Amino acid sequence: MTIFAKIIAREIPADIVYETDTVLAFRDIQPQAPVHVLVIPKKPVVSLDHARPEDAALMGELMLACGEVARQEGLDVGGYRVVTNIGNKGGQSVYHLHFHVLGGRQMSWPPG
Ligand code: AMP
Repeated sequence: MTIFAKIIAREIPADIVYETDTVLAFRDIQPQAPVHVLVIPKKPVVSLDHARPEDAALMGELMLACGEVARQEGLDVGGYRVVTNIGNKGGQSVYHLHFHVLGGRQMSWPPG
C-alpha cells in the first residue's frame, strides 16, 4: 500500500483541497513552489505508463481536476505547471499516479 493509498483511505492526514468520487487533490508535504498540489486518482494506477484505454475517462477527470485546482488556487491568471514523473529515471518516488500542480512563482525550463 502506498502512502497515497493511505491518504485516500484517511489512514494518514493530508491537506485536501479538492475531491470527487474518483479524484483527490492535496498539498504536497515538501512544496517546491508557493502552490504545490498533488492530483491523484482514487484508483491505484501506478503511473501514467500504467494507464490503459479503460482509464480514458479517469485520465480526463484528472486533467480537468488539475485545471480546477489551479483556478481554485488562483494560478490560472499568471500561469502554472502540471507535471507527472514516471518511473526511476522520471524521478517518481511514490508509485501511485499523481500530477503535480505547481505555481505561484516563475517556472524555468528545462526541468532538472
Ligand atoms: P514524485 O517524486 O513525482 O513521485 O512525487 C511524490 C511527491 O509526494 C513528492 O513531491 C513528495 O513531497 C510528496 N509526498 C510524499 N509523501 C507525502 C505525504 N504524506 N503528503 C503529501 N505529499 C507527500
